[in-house]
Amino acid sequence: MLVNLRDICAIAEQNNMAIPQFNTPSLEAVRAAIDAAEQTGYPVIIAHAEGHEPIVPLSVIGPIMITLAERSSALVCVHLDHCEHLSYMRRALELGFTGAMFDGSMLPYNDNISNSSRAAEMVTGFNCGLECELGSMGTRENGSGHVNDHISETIYTDPKQAVDFIKSTGLDILACSFGTVHGIYKGKPNLNFDILRKIRDEIETPLVMHGGSGVSDDDYQRAVNAGIRKVNYFTYGVKYAGEAAAKAIEHLRIEDANSEIYWQDLTIPAYRCMLKDFKHVIKVLANGASPLA
Ligand SMILES: [Zn+2]
Repeated sequence: MLVNLRDICAIAEQNNMAIPQFNTPSLEAVRAAIDAAEQTGYPVIIAHAEGHEPIVPLSVIGPIMITLAERSSALVCVHLDHCEHLSYMRRALELGFTGAMFDGSMLPYNDNISNSSRAAEMVTGFNCGLECELGSMGTRENGSGHVNDHISETIYTDPKQAVDFIKSTGLDILACSFGTVHGIYKGKPNLNFDILRKIRDEIETPLVMHGGSGVSDDDYQRAVNAGIRKVNYFTYGVKYAGEAAAKAIEHLRIEDANSEIYWQDLTIPAYRCMLKDFKHVIKVLANGASPLA
């Protein structure tokens, strides 16, 4: 069932849990995310990032995401991730996306407000919730999953500024920066839960953690208990799936050095790996809440 981002985050709030957003720029990933939700009984958010356009265009994967979400027995939000161009957001809205993130976090504060406000105006009239970001994780969702290019230093979200930002923009949920990074972690993730709790003390808006893959199960649950309601998960999921596909080929080659390799020899192990990984993440973020379906 297709669900609005606002409603899915309200469910998370009521149950003191977080709902994962899995980026799904392949048919295997879309199927794995929705199947994981159906098999565990928890809601899920599937997302397409503007930066993933070179992997698969929105015009191709978007209608597939919507159709499979509508057809599913699970609660599924179809979300646009890290959108920097309002024209791109409009295309997702017209396809029927029920969530969208406008990312103005790299802009000066006032420009972030004015652009995020325009995004808020744009989603009015569509069945869509809006996520915006304040603070900077220092890295961008770059699409490849390979590079963690530090564009700038991490800037933690300022709790007082968050109050003003929410009032000034009309967003529904807030992505905040408290030590997570996009891509592969260099060393152990170092999350600042004090910052997160201070933001939580100031506002009631559901909070989002980006750079969610690569974080330990313990840190996930600490983040949920400190108020995180949506966790963005991509890089480590596709890394595990890539490793599963590589391993499958290695096995075939060990059995027969001249074995043919067919496309499905890669996609089936990748799908199975993502399904198992996504189910694990969904259950950890459920934080002890009973399945909802
Ligand atoms: Zn992100």
